[in-house]
Amino acid sequence: MKRTIEWQRATVKAIKAETPEVKTLTLALPDWTAHRPGQHYDIRLTAEDGYSAQRSYSIASPPERAGEIDLTVERIADGEVSPYLHDVVLVGDRFEVRGPIGGYFVWDRTIDGPLLLVAGGSGVVPLMAMLRHRAAAGVTAPARLLYSARTYEQIIYGPELEKLTGRDGLAVSYTLTRSRPPGWKGYARRIDDAMLKEVGAPLGRDALAYVCGPTALVEVAADGLERAGLPAERIRTERFGPSGA
Ligand SMILES: Cc1cc2nc3c(=O)[nH]c(=O)nc-3n(C[C@H](O)[C@H](O)[C@H](O)COP(=O)(O)OP(=O)(O)OC[C@H]3O[C@@H](n4cnc5c(N)ncnc54)[C@H](O)[C@@H]3O)c2cc1C
Repeated sequence: MKRTIEWQRATVKAIKAETPEVKTLTLALPDWTAHRPGQHYDIRLTAEDGYSAQRSYSIASPPERAGEIDLTVERIADGEVSPYLHDVVLVGDRFEVRGPIGGYFVWDRTIDGPLLLVAGGSGVVPLMAMLRHRAAAGVTAPARLLYSARTYEQIIYGPELEKLTGRDGLAVSYTLTRSRPPGWKGYARRIDDAMLKEVGAPLGRDALAYVCGPTALVEVAADGLERAGLPAERIRTERFGPSGA
């Protein structure tokens, strides 16, 4: 039977800076349910005058961590909710959340075969939940992450991705679209067909692909994967926001 997803009051247990514009909030939940990697929670903030705003945030942590979830939030300068989560929220604060939500953009150990993940910016968040779960569950089927960020400093989870790379059949490729550190050996352009082919080819046409990020990136990458020969029904997408800039 489908469970009704009720609002509950989460408590902020920890806050971690990931990059200058991105923070991870660890939320303790009184009514925690194991999620499937790729799912999200809704956050609802309510002001004293009753005005409320609601946004969705993907779960970054794996379901193996009981009782709490990590949400990783990029600060959108002119945004309503994300600057509040960055600049105002402190450890110990409480706000309403509901989840886990979503049944399509999910992957877990029960799904066999090669895994191709394509991320733009904070779109890496749900894919990181998949990679963390994959590592915790000891899955060794080949997996690849292609991750587009503007600059090296804006790569989220960099040190952890470095540790996971090369383990259990995972390869990680980066593309930096605005600037590169000296000696950069990764890609240095926006995601295109040639890049998708190069990264995806070793996984073959049986791969299951998950693409997440700004709308424009998701469209380019999903179309490119189809042109590279992946059947449309093996490409799952999640759009975070309108901006591709
Ligand atoms: C299923 C789902 C999962 C999501 N998971 C995450 C996540 O894990 N981490 C995360 O940081 N965000 C995530 N988002 C995006 C998040 O829900 C908000 O849209 C985002 O935080 C902006 O909210 P805001 O109130 O700060 O900005 P708003 O006040 O809503 O918007 C302010 C301005 O920014 C633009 N904008 C809105 N969203 C974005 C965006 N993502 N990128 C660039 N410009 C934008 C708007 O068009 C507007 O011009 C997710 C969205 C969805 C639908």
